[in-house]
Amino acid sequence: MSATASSKKIAVIGAGVMGVSIATHLQRQGAEVRLITETEPASGASSHSLAWLNSAGERSLAYHALRMAGIDRYRTLFARHPECEWLRFDGGLYWGKDDASGTLARHTYETSLGYDSHLTHAATVDNFTPNIAHQAIADSAIFNPGEGWVSLPHLIRFLLQEFTSGGGKLVTQAGKAQVITDAAGIATGVSTAKAGNFSADSVVVACGPYTPEVVEPLGVTLPNGSPVAMLVTTEPVEHGLKAVLNTPRAAVRPNPGNSLVMDHDWYESQFTQDAQGNYQIPPAVISELLAESAKLLAGQPTLKAAGYRAGLKPIPGDGDPVLGELAKVPGCFVAFTHSGATLALIVGELLAGEILSGEKHPMLAAFRAERF
Ligand SMILES: Cc1cc2nc3c(=O)[nH]c(=O)nc-3n(C[C@H](O)[C@H](O)[C@H](O)COP(=O)(O)OP(=O)(O)OC[C@H]3O[C@@H](n4cnc5c(N)ncnc54)[C@H](O)[C@@H]3O)c2cc1C
Repeated sequence: MSATASSKKIAVIGAGVMGVSIATHLQRQGAEVRLITETEPASGASSHSLAWLNSAGERSLAYHALRMAGIDRYRTLFARHPECEWLRFDGGLYWGKDDASGTLARHTYETSLGYDSHLTHAATVDNFTPNIAHQAIADSAIFNPGEGWVSLPHLIRFLLQEFTSGGGKLVTQAGKAQVITDAAGIATGVSTAKAGNFSADSVVVACGPYTPEVVEPLGVTLPNGSPVAMLVTTEPVEHGLKAVLNTPRAAVRPNPGNSLVMDHDWYESQFTQDAQGNYQIPPAVISELLAESAKLLAGQPTLKAAGYRAGLKPIPGDGDPVLGELAKVPGCFVAFTHSGATLALIVGELLAGEILSGEKHPMLAAFRAERF
């Protein structure tokens, strides 16, 4: 622990997986950290995430490299805690709407980056992963053995245990928090609607889809492309599924307690909001998603919904992460990203390093807010 790190007071706003990971990494490096959140930890997008750990498909090389480092940190966690039922690396199985040439192009691209990618089809899929309904597979599919999944609410509890037992302060039910700046525009702390104010040497805004709203009063505009999304959890069921499935009508993965979770985007236009601002979805959509998911599983088990959660899924306007200190507001850092499950551990580590050392990490160079 360096003297500089141990003398720094940092306030992190938002106890989703990003804020919790950043706070825990800061705490590990000796900072005095206060994690402040509107209601309870894991109440935002991290409460309803498919949380498929991957870098499948096509994106910038910088984003791919960050995601691969993200997967690497989960692999380390997995190696240290193989008993965790909430983190698994049993691969991912993908097929798309497009014809075999689309799947082949994806596979060729993935292979060109050294991403572990295997073409398969109905007759060979059992060689890669069990309990898939052969008849559901399109002409061809891709199996990516290096992929996995995590249950974010479990990960958040796990990290918070370390954070609080190491002396980190968690402030829940704080209401909406805002960044306080001094006359020179430098971040000096956090004000909250219900829990008072906190001074800090640096502030981190990790408010998921609400990050743009929190930095807007500071004169920083972050384009926000966050859609409404939903995750359905099933009642316990004998399913035998190991891989994360990404298919044209349902994405499905195993979940602790022998349940499954599933999502997709084909029903996005059917969400409505009630008077309290909660998102609702017609029951017929849930039934259809369950039926589409059951079709993917050998034996087509009956899937019953135990519940669903819906809310905004954080996606910056151009789809890429927004990470690091705001040039306009010295001392104020942001973490606003899609694929925050895959990125949470690496972003927590790299941002904590930037905050405490003042040195910018090259892997985050492509993701600064100033690109907008
Ligand atoms: C349906 C769905 C599927 C997904 N699938 C994947 C996937 O397969 N792979 C992957 O890597 N990622 C996936 N993601 C994305 C990933 O889950 C998110 O990127 C990640 O959970 C975001 O975490 P976060 O901490 O940034 O935000 P959140 O989890 O939303 O946490 C932000 C927290 O900040 C709090 N907050 C907000 N405003 C304020 C304020 N003003 N004051 C105080 N507190 C505030 C909120 O209450 C919340 O608790 C998916 C997300 C969804 C919704």
